Parts: sequence; C-alpha cells; structure tokens
Amino acid sequence: MRIGILGGTFDPPHLGHLQLADAAKSSLELDEVLFLPANRNPLKTRPIGTPGKHRLEMVRRLIAQEPSFAVSDMELTRGGMSYTVDTIGELLMVAPAEYWFIIGADGLKNLHEWKSPQRLLRISRLAVAVRPPMTDFDVAARIPEEFRERVDVIKMEPSNVSSTEIRERLARRQSVTGLVPESVVAYIREQKLYQI
Ligand code: ATP
Repeated sequence: MRIGILGGTFDPPHLGHLQLADAAKSSLELDEVLFLPANRNPLKTRPIGTPGKHRLEMVRRLIAQEPSFAVSDMELTRGGMSYTVDTIGELLMVAPAEYWFIIGADGLKNLHEWKSPQRLLRISRLAVAVRPPMTDFDVAARIPEEFRERVDVIKMEPSNVSSTEIRERLARRQSVTGLVPESVVAYIREQKLYQI
C-alpha cells in the first residue's frame, strides 16, 4: 500500500486541501490519502481556535465524496503536541505501508524545526506541492540537500486558498463559495463557528 498523510490544523478545511490530496494521489499513485487534524501544531504561533471535534467533522464533510480519502482522529485522541514523526511511527506499527507526508511548500521553510526530521525522512518520504507565493523553482531550491533523495515534488496547479483567508472572510460576513464546500459552510453555520 502507498499511503499519503495530509496533516494540518484544518481550521477550517478547504478546497486547497482537497486539491493538494488529489495532486499527491495522482502524482504518486497513492492508494489512499489519510487526513490528520492536529491536536496542537508545534510550529504555529496562533493557537488552534476551533475544537478538534468540529475540525474532524468538517474534514469528514470535505472528503465525503472521495472514496480513497479518509480522516483519522489519532492526533486528537493522543492529545498534546502533534508531532508527525510520532504519528507516522505509530501508523507504521499498526498499518505497515509506504508512507508519504504531504505538505504545501510553505511547510519547507521550517523543516529543520520539526521534531526529528532525519528520522521522519527515514521512515517516510515527503511529498511537496507548490504554494503561492512560492514557485516551482523556489520549491526545488528549498529542499535541503541532505533530504533531496527522500522528497518528491508533486505537480499541482497553484492555489491561493488558505484557512486564514477563509476565517477572515467569514468574520467579515463575505462569501466563501468556491473556497469551501457547501456542506462545510452549512456545518460552520449550524455550529456558529468563526463568529458567524
Ligand atoms: P492557515 O491559513 O490557518 O495557516 P492553511 O490554509 O495553511 O492554514 P493547514 O491546515 O495548516 O491550512 O494546512 C495543512 C497542509 O496543507 C499544509 O502542509 C499546507 O502547506 C497545505 N496547504 C494548505 N492550503 C494549501 C494550498 N492552497 N496549496 C498548497 N498547499 C496547501
């Protein structure tokens, strides 16, 4: 089995995440992409504003039409900081497979600050997609030499969508149509998330 792991805060999940998972799946011929909402992200300065159960449900709705995408609550139930190396280590024990950790190119900026990047890149490969304002050229240049052999650059049409922009639009009562599926918008309204 070839499995992609898409970790994130998903606060809220959006069509850029879906596009990233799709691009990884087709570029790397993955059997499955597993979305993993983080409990706490050690590298984000802004605390995650939305409880895990809501982020989990929004991801469920985001991927509902995609039979080869799944979501796991393992980082939420483990609690504490969510370190990718621990998560993939745990997955390898319960479900041995070839794993790719999928990231947008912004994630490359602080690769050296991750917990045990050497071990992470030994037990899994990294799949990186372009994310504006970075270009394909920046992506290639940013991959540290020591990891180059373990990194796959995946082809993706650049997408500007971000959770930050969606939170800001919702707070200003602007439409998020075309950025977030309607089923997720309906959940946000039902649960009165993001002050709407
Ligand atoms: P925020 O704006 O709150 O920082 P985000 O939109 O970056 O959130 P995350 O849940 O933090 O969303 O992202 C999870 C993963 O998806 C990260 O690796 C991120 O780089 C990637 N990602 C998110 N949006 C895009 C996008 N539009 N293009 C490429 N990668 C993306």
